[in-house]
Amino acid sequence: MSQRVSCLPASSDDRDDGMPGLAITALIVSLFFPNTRTPEEWSHPGMDKGIWGNLSIIDCHGHIGSFKGYDLDTKTLLSNIERYGVNMVLVSNIDGANLPGTTKNLDEVQANTVASEIIRAHRKILRGLIWTRPNDGNPEQVELFLKETFKPGETTKVFVGLKLHPMMNQFPADDPVVDGYLALCERYGVPAVFHSDKPGTHADPQKIYAAARRHPKVPVILYHSTFFGPHDAALDVVKASRANNDADLYLETAQVSTGDVIEAVKAVGSDRVLFGTDATYFGKEHYAKYEAMVQTLRKKLSPQEFGNVMAHNAERLFRLH
Ligand SMILES: [Zn+2]
Repeated sequence: MSQRVSCLPASSDDRDDGMPGLAITALIVSLFFPNTRTPEEWSHPGMDKGIWGNLSIIDCHGHIGSFKGYDLDTKTLLSNIERYGVNMVLVSNIDGANLPGTTKNLDEVQANTVASEIIRAHRKILRGLIWTRPNDGNPEQVELFLKETFKPGETTKVFVGLKLHPMMNQFPADDPVVDGYLALCERYGVPAVFHSDKPGTHADPQKIYAAARRHPKVPVILYHSTFFGPHDAALDVVKASRANNDADLYLETAQVSTGDVIEAVKAVGSDRVLFGTDATYFGKEHYAKYEAMVQTLRKKLSPQEFGNVMAHNAERLFRLH
């Protein structure tokens, strides 16, 4: 996969300003003339695999399950993946969130059993992140999911990390209740992804940093780099962890503005930022919301930096090879 990313032209002069328009044109053309390609598509053979198909993108933040008011239907996710040619999405089952009336509020075993079935049915494009519920679950039952391979005797794992949502499951990110889960991550060599949110909340980046410092070998990814910002708090803890070498923290791009992603890459390095989108938060046109981001990152970052953010960091941390 890395070779394919580094084969990309260093600059994208021919696609600099046309991407959103191109997507709309392609959509209209494909609706009315299903076998017709736009001129741009003829000149970009990689687009046979989808709008981003030649970029080998890994989305490290997607969901299955249901959330009232949002279209998280697996069919919506799959059609987005296919249309955009995303190589792989790491999904967790949001029905593990303790929000009765909004989610199904499934326990750890139920939520991850459902996830496993869906991931197994789509193993080429999906891997799982185990939804944890530190308040009423336990690391021992979660461990069974970390052991799951697609077939007996095979080494490829169904689940490649743990997901912790301090807001939706109501625990402070630095509470001792997370320690058993992070110890499990260390034992299995897998990352933990945390929803990160405003200072003062359960998902305060400082609290995530405090938990990560107790488990410095575990890669900990701050989803959203603070949900809808401002992002300083998340950037600050990643910078501090690098300076002090006391935790292994990363930022993620879901719902972050393109300008803030570029600032984050400059501030903490391209090896500390992962592309994730919270699929399919934006519903049927989910990835369309990220077209400008992908296009601009491709233009403003070096091919190496772009490859790190879009795929290589995820491949390395979640051991996707
Ligand atoms: Zn999410």
